[in-house]
Order: sequence, then structure tokens, then C-alpha cells
Amino acid sequence: MARTGPPHLDFRSDTRTVPDARMRRAMAEAKVGDDVYGDDPTVALVEERVAALLGAEAALFTPTGTLANLLAPLAAGPAGAPAPRVIAGEGSHMAFLEADGLRRFGGVELVTVGQRPDGLPEPDALAALLAVRADRPTVVCVENTAMMCSGNALDADATRAVAELAHRHGAHLHLDGARLANAAVALGVPPARLAGPADSVAFSVSKGLGAPAGALLCGSRAYVARARELRGELGGSLHQAGVLAAPALVALDRLPDLAADHDRAAALAALLAEVPGVQVMRPPRPTNMVMARLPAVPAGECAALLAGHGVLVLPLPNAHVRFVTHREHDMIGVRAAVRAVAAVSAAVSGARPARTTDEDPHRQRRRKHDDEATRART
Ligand SMILES: *Cc1c(COP(=O)(O)O)cnc(C)c1O
Repeated sequence: MARTGPPHLDFRSDTRTVPDARMRRAMAEAKVGDDVYGDDPTVALVEERVAALLGAEAALFTPTGTLANLLAPLAAGPAGAPAPRVIAGEGSHMAFLEADGLRRFGGVELVTVGQRPDGLPEPDALAALLAVRADRPTVVCVENTAMMCSGNALDADATRAVAELAHRHGAHLHLDGARLANAAVALGVPPARLAGPADSVAFSVSKGLGAPAGALLCGSRAYVARARELRGELGGSLHQAGVLAAPALVALDRLPDLAADHDRAAALAALLAEVPGVQVMRPPRPTNMVMARLPAVPAGECAALLAGHGVLVLPLPNAHVRFVTHREHDMIGVRAAVRAVAAVSAAVSGARPARTTDEDPHRQRRRKHDDEATRART
């Protein structure tokens, strides 16, 4: 499929990375079996390697991070238990993009909780939710990096604090680590350290690591065995999955390369901050994302104006547009993106005065969640 923009100007997501020659060669030469029969050696290898990387007993290859996050809470309860209650940050991928699937296909009760600026669930709000007696198992989710918080990397202590709170109430802690590799590289710690406090971790190889598809759900041996059964029931078990596990193995060799993505994001943030009229949101421990806004221009319109200059970004419900840097970018593309933002900013500031009636983005986001909650109840 043709791209809609040149790779060096497509900042929508690190999922935009395409398999390169080495990955394609690995796919072509992959030793395969039938993973449904448990004898695909390449899948077995990637599962072993990611389990070791995250310090887990076992790992399960899934076609997508979304499926790993759906299996994660379902495998947490004892067999025969009712579908769990899932508590996830209101700006998390699970609450924002996976809620309908979790409810419909997992039967879970999804409850959102406010997040601190670093992405961690608000401890008091989480404690209050955990104190409510539930007639079903509870799964608390933490996202690292925290996407809606500009890709902030959470350190192990932050996750451990939530894990301890969850465990005091008998709850399971799931870590949505789609970009845990970015967090580990940014913090300069092994991924296992960040995964340690969690009971399960979903780890993606298809984001900045550049594999075409795939995630691994990690946990104890018994937990992963249960997830494996559920994966089959949901239609997520692939036969010659080795052709997807092979590029995932190549991706795992590329963790250190993520540092270059982070450097380009830092350069982009610094250059954007100098553009008149632009507000940049950078988190305490940045990774490969930059969120920015022109206060007078709604995010969707901002993204459309930038697309007119050949720069692709993602508008978000927090009134910002998201730039994600990845391995196919270079500094030429970063500078071109900054020039496009400067052109758009100059054009809109000449064309209209800053709006004073703009709704506060937090209120706007809360209202959206209220609307969703209302819809879910009706
Ligand atoms: C991308 C992403 C997912 C889902 O992964 P897919 O492979 O696209 O299904 C889940 N959580 C987070 C935080 C993500 O960024």
C-alpha cells in the first residue's frame, strides 16, 4: 500500500515503520512449524527471548497489542471466575481505544481513573475504586510509556507503588508496555526492572522496534497457559506464525536504536518551542513523542493544515497534535516539520486573533469521558 506522505515527514506513529531488507530476509528464511500445535521454533524463540528480557517465566506471542491487552485481564482471574473489572487511566490506550472491545469481547467492566501528569493513576482515586467491594476480580492497568502524557517513561518505583496498592486489595497489576522498550532506553535500565512490579506485561515489537506486527503477553507460566487457551478461543492463534516471529527477533536486537528516536524527539521539541505561537508539552521523562498545539486552532484543524504542508501528525482529544519520532526519520525531516509548523502558525496568527472562549483541554477531555460513560450506561 502506498504511503500518504514521505516517510521522513510522517510523524503520526512509530507503527508507521515498515520492515526493512533484513527483516524481510528473516521472514523469507524463517523456520516455521504450526504454533497451534506448539511446534513453531521461531515463535518459541521469540517467546523465550521476550520472557527473559522482561524477567518473566513465560511469554505468549499475539498478532497485536490490542489482543494482548484483551487477554491480559481475562487470564488474570481463576478459571470460572466472572469477567474482571478493569481499572485503566482515562487517557490510556486501553480506555481510549480498546474499551469497546474489552467490554464486548471480554465482558469486562471498564472503569477509568484520572492520571497524574506523569501518567500514573491518581493514587487516591485508585485507592477509592479499589476499596469498593467488587463481585469480580479486579485488574489495574498502568501504561508505560504513558501515551497521553506525551510518552512519559515511568520508573520502576512508580509502577511498584501502584502494584503494592493493587496487591493490598487482591488486584492484579497489568502493565501495558507497548513502548516499554522506549521507557527502558530513556531511563537507562533493563526492561525487566520496569516490568518487575507487574503481574503481566504486554510488550509490542511493532512500534519503534519496527516489526510488521506482534506483541508478547508475559507473566507466570500458569497465567500464560491460560492466556494461550483464551487466544485460541478469540481466534488469535496463527499457524505458521514464525514468519511474524522472525522479524520480531530482528526487532529485539534494535532496542538501543531507540535512543536515536528520543534524541530526534528532543530536538523537535526544542525547535518547536522556539516557534512563535506554539505550545509544546513535554513530560518529565520524555521518549519519542512530542505534543504541541496552536492555542487558537483545534487539533483536527491543525493536523489538516500541517498535512497541507506534507507533515502528518495525529490530533488527540487533549487538544494537542502528536509527533512520534521513529527509525525512518532524520534531522532533515525534523527541520522540515518545524518549518511547516512555523508556516501554519504564522498563517493562523495573521488570519485570526487567539480565541478567548477556548475550552480548557482538561474539561474538554473530562466531558468526552463523561459522554462516553453516559453512553456506556444507556
Ligand atoms: C499501539 C498500542 C497498543 C495496541 O497495539 P496494536 O499492536 O496496535 O494492537 C496498546 N497500547 C498502547 C499503549 C499502544 O501504544
